[in-house]
Amino acid sequence: MATDNEQRMRAASARTLGHDRPPDPRYRALAEDLRDRVTGEVQFDEYAQVLYATDGSIYQARPAGVVVPRDVADVRAAIEVATAYDAPILPRGAGSSLAGQAVGPGCVVLDFSRYMDDVVEIDPDARRATVQPGVVQDHLDAALEEHGLKFPPDPASSNRATIGGGIGNNSTGAHSVRYGITDAYTEELRVVLPDGELIHTREVVLDSPEYEEIVSADTREAAIYETVRELVEDNREEIEERYPTLKRSVSGYNLHKVIYENDDGEAVINLSKLFVGAEGTLGVIVEATLSLVTKPEETALALYCFEDLIDALSAVPEALEYPVSAVELMDDEVFRLAADSDGYAEYVEPIPERTAAALMLEWDDELVSADGVAGGATDSAAAAAPRLPTTGASTRRSRRPSRTRPPGSSTTATPSR
Ligand SMILES: Cc1cc2nc3c(=O)[nH]c(=O)nc-3n(C[C@H](O)[C@H](O)[C@H](O)COP(=O)(O)OP(=O)(O)OC[C@H]3O[C@@H](n4cnc5c(N)ncnc54)[C@H](O)[C@@H]3O)c2cc1C
Repeated sequence: MATDNEQRMRAASARTLGHDRPPDPRYRALAEDLRDRVTGEVQFDEYAQVLYATDGSIYQARPAGVVVPRDVADVRAAIEVATAYDAPILPRGAGSSLAGQAVGPGCVVLDFSRYMDDVVEIDPDARRATVQPGVVQDHLDAALEEHGLKFPPDPASSNRATIGGGIGNNSTGAHSVRYGITDAYTEELRVVLPDGELIHTREVVLDSPEYEEIVSADTREAAIYETVRELVEDNREEIEERYPTLKRSVSGYNLHKVIYENDDGEAVINLSKLFVGAEGTLGVIVEATLSLVTKPEETALALYCFEDLIDALSAVPEALEYPVSAVELMDDEVFRLAADSDGYAEYVEPIPERTAAALMLEWDDELVSADGVAGGATDSAAAAAPRLPTTGASTRRSRRPSRTRPPGSSTTATPSR
């Protein structure tokens, strides 16, 4: 039971934040129709609008309201209602993206982080996992740990970032030099289209019976397959010539990755690749099947400290000539904040005083050839580490136990597309 004082404080806070006010009259009918159709939460009060008006970026925009779906049926219903009102739909995970993608004026936010956050299935033999979009990346990796597997794209925000948001953003992290980015690991999706139709995107061999069955139906899915195929085939040269060769491609739709040759040499179309990096603009992902990699048994870290940030940046191309599995740059602001914190101060102590920036390089036992270097990743790191013009360097072995591998072997799949 709340005390009188608590009740007074709650009432005051509700008044201040507008929690007790009726929904914005502009959106009243929309909110009512959503409540009729959705079993999850529908929040159109001012409190929810203010809460979801910000994300990890500098931008702010007040949505019409928020739907917290419990299942796919809720998502389909919410999209059908919002579309009928011509209201923009904004799928959202943790809202940690940095360029304003997770906020929008007058939109209906679909928050996947609360209920649709399950790991549905792990298939260790096929190295695949099927997840709901709201699962936090670290939670997925924790579930994969016992199988010695991991989902490779690792944004620094992985303790809150969701898989759905990572697919929306085509996310990656320090290990992108080793594994590439999210589109290489997104194999199948279940996506709700703007009219509420649910489709299952996967690798489909062009002109196969499966393909013909899809395109012969009188559905929006059929139209999408045909339109995308025509677009890619008619503009193949332009796409090949003009798409920039970026490691991280999020500057437009992935038309250059949607039709490709599979491992059996067949021409296939996989619309999943198109939804990756689309920032939720093509459809709302309600389930994803991801490919996984083995987690290295042993890693070693080398920290290169520089007196000048530009020197640290200039050293990156040289560092990439070595078999590093991760590259990360930190500046003195990070060290200053770490030094002031209880949890991280001890890690700053070994860093030389004049350090303006540090380059962190990682080696792992799968990537570093064991040829001629005994003792696993740490010794390999010491031997292979580039001699960069630094103020100092140190190496540290990870806590995972060492394991013997045949020289030059690598059990981890590297992205092929
Ligand atoms: C401190 C910090 C460090 C970061 N480091 C990195 C980094 O190293 N690498 C990196 O890539 N990014 C980084 N980011 C950016 C961001 O955290 C990541 O891109 C992250 O993967 C986004 O996940 P999210 O759940 O927060 O997505 P959100 O921000 O909620 O959404 C991201 C995009 O995906 C769309 N989306 C969300 N869910 C769905 C869905 N179900 N269906 C369709 N579309 C959907 C959204 O509409 C939006 O366009 C960092 C951010 C912060 C704050």
